[in-house]
Amino acid sequence: MGDSIRERMMKFYSEGDGSITINACQGHFATSQSHINYYIDVTRLKVRVSEAKEAARSLRSKLMNRVTTVDTIVCLDSMEMLGGFLANELEKADIHMNNMHETIYVVHPEENTIHQFMFRENIRPAVEGKQVIVLVDTMTTGETVSKALECIEYYGGIINGVCSIFSTVDKVGNQDVFTLFTEKDLPGYAAYAPNECPFCQKKIPLEAMVNGYGYSKL
Ligand SMILES: [Zn+2]
Repeated sequence: MGDSIRERMMKFYSEGDGSITINACQGHFATSQSHINYYIDVTRLKVRVSEAKEAARSLRSKLMNRVTTVDTIVCLDSMEMLGGFLANELEKADIHMNNMHETIYVVHPEENTIHQFMFRENIRPAVEGKQVIVLVDTMTTGETVSKALECIEYYGGIINGVCSIFSTVDKVGNQDVFTLFTEKDLPGYAAYAPNECPFCQKKIPLEAMVNGYGYSKL
């Protein structure tokens, strides 16, 4: 038996930038917060250098004229490579940096055993008093990201926006979301609260649990 999720994966193009694609497959899946009818795989844009560079270039064009100062990119979901390329794009674009080193920091928070984000002493200078953008792979409710925003503010960072590969929300709290893909790029995309999921109500079993690392079949 093959892996039916992998075999059903299809390529989807970004409405705004046809050079960038993600993979997705329809079905019945659970994230930590919701049930969704697509499993979205953005791995290629995170792990292939050429695709991460393209994604960074496209994100830069979304940020230009909207975000003027960036000192630090805080990466969640193993987005550091894309974060590095985005920093490079922003530096080439002459985005303003307030810090005396005149370069952008790319960092990620640690998640402790009770799933709280934190920054250790050695990383805190990259956050405290810095102009920060947050980079995530996919957002369906924004709940995880809003925890990260609280953490960054706790450590004294000033947040200037959230960047993502895929997002169904255009704001997290009062922060604008700059995203390469939205639910409009995936025809019929829907997310449900677990207790209101129509698949569950029809007793259709969940296929997999999904998160930023991938899927695990049930
Ligand atoms: Zn369900």
